[in-house]
Amino acid sequence: MKKLVVLGGGESGVGAALLGKVKNYDVFVSDKGVIKEKYKDVLIHNEIEWEEGMHSEAKILSADVVMKSPGIPDKASLVKKIRKQGVKVVSEIEFASGYTNATIVGITGSNGKTTTATLTHHILSQEIEVGLAGNIGDSFSKQVLEYDYPNYVLEISSFQLDDIIDFKPGIAVITNITPDHLDRYDYKFENYIASKFRIAENQTKDDFLIYDADDEVIVNWLKKYPVQSTLVPFSLTQFVENGVYLDKENITITIDNNYIIMPTTSLTLEGKHNVKNAMAASAVAHLLKIRKQTIRESLENFQAVEHRLEHVLKINKVQYINDSKATNVNATYYALESMDAPTVWIVGGEDKGNNYEELFSFVNEKVKAIICLGVDNEKLMRTFGNMVDVIVETQYMSEAVKIAYKIAESGDNVLLSPACASFDLFENYEDRGRQFKEAVRNL
Ligand code: ADP
Repeated sequence: MKKLVVLGGGESGVGAALLGKVKNYDVFVSDKGVIKEKYKDVLIHNEIEWEEGMHSEAKILSADVVMKSPGIPDKASLVKKIRKQGVKVVSEIEFASGYTNATIVGITGSNGKTTTATLTHHILSQEIEVGLAGNIGDSFSKQVLEYDYPNYVLEISSFQLDDIIDFKPGIAVITNITPDHLDRYDYKFENYIASKFRIAENQTKDDFLIYDADDEVIVNWLKKYPVQSTLVPFSLTQFVENGVYLDKENITITIDNNYIIMPTTSLTLEGKHNVKNAMAASAVAHLLKIRKQTIRESLENFQAVEHRLEHVLKINKVQYINDSKATNVNATYYALESMDAPTVWIVGGEDKGNNYEELFSFVNEKVKAIICLGVDNEKLMRTFGNMVDVIVETQYMSEAVKIAYKIAESGDNVLLSPACASFDLFENYEDRGRQFKEAVRNL
């Protein structure tokens, strides 16, 4: 019996462990932290051996294959030892993809993965059987084991791509690439870009790579390192062949023939970034032969994913918007860009070495007040202090929302779009978003 060691007992780890068990591996799950009760129950119920709070090295090093959870960095000394021993290390999507012949749509990028994956799944599921997995909801392994769908839409992080070997999506999407997670890539942007492009490394000309042709990082990389895949660009600013572009504000597909899908004004999602996400999703759907009518209708009735420019409530004609998932500057850029009214902006949290310059013109143009919500607000206060009439700080969400309520006037927006991670004051971005919504509802 081959030995599978799973490092990390979270969603992807436990999913891979279950799949491994069914595929006749001798499975051992090891987590240095604490495994959540719900996952422990699954492991116990399925008679899978596990440990927490430690890594039993000898046992781990005797593995035939190690499935490493995305949260564990390559720098970890145990991972170095495993690699030195020549033990095969794979990510969870690599492991699971060995057990399915399904058509895979793999979606990666710095921002917009969840939105694009959910939207793509929404369109496809009108006509074909398709699972949605990866960084979103269930692990890929779990779905392969439980549902065995003929098609999958996978949201894929760069960490998942770091440990692929044969993984090959028939359709890959790179939404955009901006600096993020550089601590995991030796602080070299090139390493992070290379990691994202691994989504296409096993593709051939029969496979497709959908990408943002307005993104210079992506375009320059493709010039330098051409891929085998058939390229399917999308663009907001220029005509593109074999892709998707805007013909007088109409989303238009130029694959095979010219197909007008719909005017951008009919999209339920707001903001230019969401037009891009809609273009990427339309391209996937078209390649999978979904009818134009279905694509249009699905784009017309899709509701924003929670914590992504989510409209919470309108109180005294002030719209409250939850964009807690904006954990970097680029995401907030698109949030501010999409604001169509004077905005009270709640920002801040754990700064990841942010450069706020790209936000300046939007702040000057649209932001009437700033509420800094973080443990350390010094940088924000310094950066934006001279740009708006009102700038205050707090460490409590309820207070931030109350202050916003006092400042906002009829017709304004109150936007939570932090541009920072949430871990200084909240459990995670979901917790931050939920606290915002609760505070708004309590007004
Ligand atoms: P991811 O899964 O890549 O983190 P999400 O869809 O969860 O992406 O969105 C994260 C944040 O980025 C949200 O604030 C959202 O409004 C914003 N966003 C969504 N799509 C894009 C895009 N194409 N470009 C830039 N920002 C985006």
